[in-house]
Amino acid sequence: TTVPTVTLNDGRTIPQLGFGVFKVDPVETERIVTDALEVGYRHIDTARIYGNEAGVGRAIADSGIARDELFITTKLWNDDQGTQSAFDAFDRSLEQLGLDEVDLYLIHWPAPANDRFVEAWKALEKIRESGRARSIGVSNFTVPYLRRLLAETDVVPAVNQIELHPAHQQPATTALSAQHGIKIEAWGPLGQGKYNLFELPEVTASAEAHGKTPAQVVIRWHLQQGNIVFPKSNRRERMAENFDVFDFELTDAEQTAITALEREGRVASHPDDVN
Ligand code: NAD
Repeated sequence: TTVPTVTLNDGRTIPQLGFGVFKVDPVETERIVTDALEVGYRHIDTARIYGNEAGVGRAIADSGIARDELFITTKLWNDDQGTQSAFDAFDRSLEQLGLDEVDLYLIHWPAPANDRFVEAWKALEKIRESGRARSIGVSNFTVPYLRRLLAETDVVPAVNQIELHPAHQQPATTALSAQHGIKIEAWGPLGQGKYNLFELPEVTASAEAHGKTPAQVVIRWHLQQGNIVFPKSNRRERMAENFDVFDFELTDAEQTAITALEREGRVASHPDDVN
C-alpha cells in the first residue's frame, strides 16, 4: 500500500495516514507500534505526556526500517513551555525516542493560563533551525491562539492538530489554518469511540455500498477532506482495517452527507480549559 503524502508549507511531506499512540500503555507500546509498522504504517504520532516515547523508539530501532521512510511526531507538554525548558524537553524526547531528529514537533496545547506559547514557539523556531525537528507545528490552536501566534512570530506552523471528526469539524479553525497554508491533522478522528458515529445511517449506508466498515468510511472521509489522520487501536486487526482504505472512494454525495453531521459535538476538553 502506498499512503498518499501531503506537502507542508515548509516543502516537506507527511504520510496522510499514520498511527497514534495516545493512551497506549508504555509497557505495551513497543509491541503495539511494532504491529503497526508490520501492518504498514510509517507515520507515528506520540507526545511527551503519553509517557510512551521510549516504547515507540524501541519499536523503530527493532524494525530495521530506514529512518527516512518513517515520519515521527512528538509534542512539547504544557509545563515545558518557555525557552530553555522547551529546549530541555525536546532533548529528553529525542533521547527517549532514540532519534537524532523528529519529523514534526508540536506545541501540544496553547495552555493560555501559562501565557507562554509565543515564547515556546520561538524556541521551536530555533529547534527547527538546528535541523533536529524538520517541521514544527501547533496543536489545539483555535482561532484566537492561532491569530496571536501568526501576529507575533516568524514561522507559520506547518500543521494544526485539532480534535476533528464528523460531529466536530471546527470550521472557523480549519478555514483560518487553510488561509495560512497550515495543514489540519485530525485527532480523535473516530470520535475516540465516544459517540454512536459507527451507527449513523450516513456512515453505515456508505459502508454497505462499498463493502467496507464504518471505521474505514470515516477514515476515508477524513482523507477526502484533506485531513492528516492517525487513528489509534491496540488491536492489530483494527490497525489493518484502518490502513485498508485505499481501494475505494466516497462519492460526492456520500462525502457531503457525512460532512453534514457537524453539530459542535466536541468529545474532549476545550483548549481554553487545558493548562
Ligand atoms: P480515535 O478517534 O483514533 O479513537 C480511538 C478508539 O477508536 C480506539 O481506542 C478504539 O476504541 C476505537 N477504534 C479504533 N479503530 C477502530 C475500528 N476499526 N473499529 C472500531 N473501533 C475502532 O482517538 P484518539 O486515539 O484520541 O486519536 C488518535 C490520535 O490522535 C491519538 O492516538 C494521538 O496520537 C492523537 N491525539 C492528539 C491529541 C492532542 O491533544 N493533540 C489528543 C488526542 C489524541
